[in-house]
Amino acid sequence: MGLSAYKKYGAAAARLGNALRSGAVSHAYIFEGDNNIDKAGFARAFAQALVCRQMPGEGCGRCAECRKIADGNYEDLYVVEPEDTTARKTGTTTIKDAQIEELQVRLKSKPTAGSHNMAIISGGDTMTARAQTRFLKTLEEPPEGTVIMILSENSEELLPTINSRCVNVRLYDLDGKDTSTGSELAGTVFDMLARKAYFADIKSVLDSGIKSRQDAYELLDALETLVGSTVRGRQDISISPEAALASTGLIEETRRDIKLGAGYNYRVRGLMLRMEELI
Ligand SMILES: [Zn+2]
Repeated sequence: MGLSAYKKYGAAAARLGNALRSGAVSHAYIFEGDNNIDKAGFARAFAQALVCRQMPGEGCGRCAECRKIADGNYEDLYVVEPEDTTARKTGTTTIKDAQIEELQVRLKSKPTAGSHNMAIISGGDTMTARAQTRFLKTLEEPPEGTVIMILSENSEELLPTINSRCVNVRLYDLDGKDTSTGSELAGTVFDMLARKAYFADIKSVLDSGIKSRQDAYELLDALETLVGSTVRGRQDISISPEAALASTGLIEETRRDIKLGAGYNYRVRGLMLRMEELI
């Protein structure tokens, strides 16, 4: 089972698969989603997509690397889980400072199987304040080849400085939800940008389509997928690979700023102005 099996969680799987195929790997990701979302499965699929040589950016599920990752015994993939290590066994599990310290030691050693040391931090929101402060050091100066995946239900529990150093990937349960709104709006807006429509008109389309942060995120996801597909020639509008890459970067940046509390209307409009110059 490869990364595309997780298309059910929105545009993230396609987006990350494309990024990996073009060699764009970040040293840290936050995979965020509600508790019904299989974030651990998604993280393992991402790890497979990263190291699989048979199907890069996807993961074949059959080669030695893919199988080891699925079975939980790949040499260079570490998993950190929340623990209840207090003497009284309160039942509350957290990720402690000592666990992050141990992870840091492991990430400093050279990967043995491939070129990446990967880590999955399950229940990342439960990292204690001390653990987060320590973890920040790894994000500031990650050892070469490090790829960390933080699994989170609510990344606002994590320090803003952690959020700002990770690529935030939101996973949705799309079952039964109307997902066409984001892609329809993205299509309209993208078409307007390509036709060099008046910005006032683009703004009024945005204003009527985006009523919440969630709407803004959905537009950004859909826009990114759309930009990717124009490069592969699947759309009637085509833009240069350079413009697509720059646009993708701007979309990422906008998503992160909104996540960090910037006004979504303001940031989405800003994105449009900058994309208009590129397209
Ligand atoms: Zn494989």
